Amino acid sequence: GVKEATNINELADEYLRLSYHGLRAKDKSFNASMETNFDESAGIVNVVSQEIGRVILNLVNNAFYAVGEKKRQLGESSDSALLKDYKPTVWLSTKRTNKGIEIRVKDNGTGMPDSVKDKIFQPFFTTKPTGLGTGLGLSLSYDIVKSHGGELLVESRAEEGTEFCIRLPIDNQYY
Ligand code: ADP
Ligand code: MG
Repeated sequence: GVKEATNINELADEYLRLSYHGLRAKDKSFNASMETNFDESAGIVNVVSQEIGRVILNLVNNAFYAVGEKKRQLGESSDSALLKDYKPTVWLSTKRTNKGIEIRVKDNGTGMPDSVKDKIFQPFFTTKPTGLGTGLGLSLSYDIVKSHGGELLVESRAEEGTEFCIRLPIDNQYY
C-alpha cells in the first residue's frame, strides 16, 4: 500500500462504526456503549489508511467481543445484580503525545490473564470457539504497526478489561 495523508480521527471513527454495525447486523441483540475522545491535534498522519484501518477494526472487533463475552459470563453467574450493573463499553481515543500519535481502544470486557496476554501476537493464537476467531488479527496488526515504524502496546487485567494502544511515530504526521 501507499502512504497518504489521512485524518486519523475520521478513520478511527469510521472503523468503530463499521465494526458496531457489522456486529449488530449479525446479532440483533448485540449492544454496547461507545465513547470517543478525539484529539484534533492528532490530526493528519501519513499512513497506509486501509492498513491502519484494518488494525483499528481488529482492535474494536476484539473489544466488542470481549464485552459481549463478559456479559454472557455475568448472565451465567448466580448473582444477577452483577449483570444488571454491567455497562458494556468500548472507548476509542486519539492523542498527540511526545512519544507519538496514539490511538487507544479500551474495553471493560473479560480482560486477559498473563498466560493469554503473552501469546496474543502469535499467528493463529485464539481463545475463541472455532469459526469465531482465526487468531490472525493481532499478529497482522502488530506487523502493520511495525511496518509504519510504530508500536502496538497492550495492558490488560483479567475480568476488568483491556486497553490497546497503537503508537505511530510523530514523523508520520503532517504539520
Ligand atoms: P481472534 O480475534 O481471531 O481470536 P486476535 O489475534 O484478534 O485473534 O486475538 C487473539 C486473542 O487475544 C483472542 O482470541 C483473545 O483471547 C485475546 N484478545 C484480543 N483482544 C482482546 C480483548 N480486547 N479482550 C480480551 N481478550 C482479547
Ligand atoms: Mg480478532
